[in-house]
Amino acid sequence: MDDIIQKTSSFLIALTVLKIIWTPEYLKYDFGPDHPFWPQRGREFLELIKQSPIEYKIVSPPPASDKDILLVHTPDYLDKVKKSAKLSSPLSLDTPLNPGVLETAYYSVGGTIVTCEIALKGEMVINLLGGLHHAETNRGGGFCIFSDHAIAIRKLQKQGKLKKVLIFDLDVHAGNGTQEIFYSDPSVFNISLHQDPATLYPGTGFAHQRGIGKGKDYNLNIPLPPGTNGSDYLQALDQVLPLYNNYQSDLTILILGVDTYKNDPLANLNLVENDYLEIGKRFSRFPKLAVLCAGGYSRQTPELWLEFLKGQAN
Ligand SMILES: [Zn+2]
Repeated sequence: MDDIIQKTSSFLIALTVLKIIWTPEYLKYDFGPDHPFWPQRGREFLELIKQSPIEYKIVSPPPASDKDILLVHTPDYLDKVKKSAKLSSPLSLDTPLNPGVLETAYYSVGGTIVTCEIALKGEMVINLLGGLHHAETNRGGGFCIFSDHAIAIRKLQKQGKLKKVLIFDLDVHAGNGTQEIFYSDPSVFNISLHQDPATLYPGTGFAHQRGIGKGKDYNLNIPLPPGTNGSDYLQALDQVLPLYNNYQSDLTILILGVDTYKNDPLANLNLVENDYLEIGKRFSRFPKLAVLCAGGYSRQTPELWLEFLKGQAN
């Protein structure tokens, strides 16, 4: 099975050019000079990839609509976000809001919808701002306002373009938003590797949280101790990747957090540059893969994304 996936994917990738979903609007995802999120990482990545042998095309997404947002979030929450943005009052302690940030959040959702549509055609695609996995139906935080990937899934499900989705969330923080949104939903299998939430934000995402009702066993948390290195990390990843074969999803979403990197200021895992190349190689086997760039707060973030892509195109 693995061999079949490998051959199909190499064939498809050879025929397609990487699509990079990016718009200058993403630069407005700016929470202020002292905030760890740095929107320039997208622009730096574009400079870097120019010098690499990877062939690519930039695709500018449209913003999502309120109707899209309401596929996942409550009307009360959307009202609150709009009011807070207008007043530039914070959504949570770590997530200040202003009109530019909110506008960008709509573009990020639009970007992830486009990313999933392109991935469904079997093309290589990466959204430079997505996988904002801390946004819950009725609550934002952790630098996340809207759950772009959850909205994209709901929209494409509604349009009949897909039924089942597998999410691999490799951001170092547990995705409390994704977990909350899909906790009772067997049509979305959420697999997350992250630093033990007893030692890191958001303080949830434990191994015993496996889903509820029909969604039981479709939420899989793999907490890793602080200090986990690349070889232990890849070993943990290799144990869950074969679940792809059993679940038979129409689309795989990869939330590519690179805040697992040894120098990341917001967490305590110990991955090095080459580990991202290795992660990329593993995901080159997936024929319909939407890659979303989530956490990554070190200055090396653009290089780590590129390492991943070199592995994926391998
Ligand atoms: Zn993170």
